Amino acid sequence: MEREILLLGDPRLYEISEEVRPEELEGLRDTITDLFDCIKAIRRDYGFGRAIAAPQIGVNKRLICILTDRPYVIINPSLEFIGDETMELLDDCMSFPKLLVRVRRYRHCILRYTDENWEKREMRMDDDMSELIQHEYDHLDGILYTDKCSNLREAPEMDDEDEEGLDEE
Ligand SMILES: [Zn+2]
Repeated sequence: MEREILLLGDPRLYEISEEVRPEELEGLRDTITDLFDCIKAIRRDYGFGRAIAAPQIGVNKRLICILTDRPYVIINPSLEFIGDETMELLDDCMSFPKLLVRVRRYRHCILRYTDENWEKREMRMDDDMSELIQHEYDHLDGILYTDKCSNLREAPEMDDEDEEGLDEE
């Protein structure tokens, strides 16, 4: 079932989500189905969308669904960055689908997680998949990409007389 996606400013998006316990998995099956339905709905309406985190529909659990070559259910993930190579990119989010924000992300990482059968899994993520999982992981910690934005405080260089009247904030 398609569910309402919480939008920027909703306090629930800024909470830290809880670990999923094994006995909770069965109770989350409908939520998992709903998360995939939301990805499909966003694709239909906005033309983008590969992943969603449970807190974006108000479920305060460390659960991410990714729909790429196949559906992936990512429970209790952890990320290990490989090297310090980063990349700057324009990021989008279902929680504010009409905005793009420039962010910096690690280019390579290893994702460790529990799948929908409660099996431990490990996956290397590079480039666009690396930035995707970092974005979704941030949702589990209540971080929205506006907080990681690398250009919010940048102002063009100008000489002194032009600075008059410039809002310092
Ligand atoms: Zn997002």
